Amino acid sequence: MATYDYDLFVIGAGSGGVRAARVAAMSGAKVAVAEEHRVGGTCVIRGCVPKKFMVYASEFAHHFKTAKGYGWAIEGATFDWPTFLAEKDKEIARLSGIYVRNLQNAGAELAHGKARLLDAHTVTIDGLGTRTADKILIATGGRPWRPSGLPGCDLAITSNEAFQLAELPRRIVIAGGGYIAVEFAGIFNGLGVETTLVHRGPNILRGFDDDVRSHLTEELEKRGIKVLLGTQHTAIEKSAGGFVSKFSGDHETESDVVMFAIGREPYVEGLGLEAAGVTLTDKGAVAVDGYSRTNVENIWAVGDVTDRINLTPVAIREGEAFARSVFHDTPTRFDHEMVASAVFSQPPIGSVGLSEADARKQYGKVDIYLARFRPMKYTFTGADERALMKLVVDCASDKVVGCHVVGPDAPEMIQMAAIAMKMGVTKAQWDSTCAVHPTLAEELVTMREKHQPMGLGQVA
Ligand code: NDP
Repeated sequence: MATYDYDLFVIGAGSGGVRAARVAAMSGAKVAVAEEHRVGGTCVIRGCVPKKFMVYASEFAHHFKTAKGYGWAIEGATFDWPTFLAEKDKEIARLSGIYVRNLQNAGAELAHGKARLLDAHTVTIDGLGTRTADKILIATGGRPWRPSGLPGCDLAITSNEAFQLAELPRRIVIAGGGYIAVEFAGIFNGLGVETTLVHRGPNILRGFDDDVRSHLTEELEKRGIKVLLGTQHTAIEKSAGGFVSKFSGDHETESDVVMFAIGREPYVEGLGLEAAGVTLTDKGAVAVDGYSRTNVENIWAVGDVTDRINLTPVAIREGEAFARSVFHDTPTRFDHEMVASAVFSQPPIGSVGLSEADARKQYGKVDIYLARFRPMKYTFTGADERALMKLVVDCASDKVVGCHVVGPDAPEMIQMAAIAMKMGVTKAQWDSTCAVHPTLAEELVTMREKHQPMGLGQVA
């Protein structure tokens, strides 16, 4: 039998790779992890975590406004971007250090360098030479995608650079209507940057429930974000004052920064997947089965590089399922159904299950429960901000198949709703839950009247 340097070689020390490496190493397996950047991956270094800090930082502007309505006098509050960046970088370094220690404590070796497959069992790591492994896990994640054919496209930044801008711009144009575009629009707007969100489609956040999409667009506009729908860049040019974004329909906007947030692509470049015989999907992701195994018997892949559900907790669960299946003799598949997600827009969204449109396609007859109302916190100050709550119920089974919330703390609420929905909760069981008062979330368990389409529902 062939002998190898390692039982498992993981390429990529992000959320999925680190979890898989740790759980595999706990079985006594000899494990190494290669990482070309910093340990922690997109989520910790240039994604979810620093983004959330930026969201927190930017929310203060709104809190200060609300505070005034409650009698506080807050004069002269200013924000210092360099101070924030330095603190953010300190915290990210601390978290990355924890990831390194966790790997070391589990007994996994860390190799700093870009790894490339030479064949199905051999990996070469820049500057470190060649290693062999019985099994290989690809967990290289994704990276921002840019439209290379667009004139001036290189003048734009992506989310990678948005975390490190030397100074806060006065004006920004953000292209895209997905999670990243919407979240950064809220961040920059909150920090006082004149923000324009440009999206090619008729509404932002394709795939989300239509009521959620239009509700959020209205709320973003109320907060001062300029939302241009049905609009696409045709070119970006340098100007005396910054950059000029030229749009379809022959109009243009000048800004200090242009940011593209128009999707991410699986990071497979330079990995040597062809040399190992690993096949890709037609979208360029590593093709895997329900156990995250590729077409090559000893190679697996987890996380964004497989382009299933591109969320950190999903990558972690896929990595864990792989390690349990392969190193702990416990065949485990991660169930990709009913995965909740949050968009940290301002106000934020929490969503789990199907949109109304998808539920109608899947189940035929569905009942809708919908509430739009001013949260108590804002009725006090007179601010015109509304929350939205929506339940989608399959008529035949009475199961709640979709739950969508826009408003303060929506991401926190949706985690709890996801537990019940994962267990197959019916609307009758949902309604039997007593409300917690006074909260926003109580509205979720007190919606009794079916929403009539054409705006005849409970619009407060
Ligand atoms: P998304 O896939 O969410 O959105 C991409 C957006 O870009 C869409 O609005 C899309 O429009 C638009 N687009 C695509 N191609 C073009 C083009 N050529 N020109 C103009 N617009 C274009 O990507 P993101 O980059 O926002 O995020 C990537 C993924 O990362 C997310 O899907 C999510 O899985 C994950 N993520 C999760 C977060 C969270 O959990 N809070 C936060 C950030 C990211 P259209 O709708 O017309 O296709």
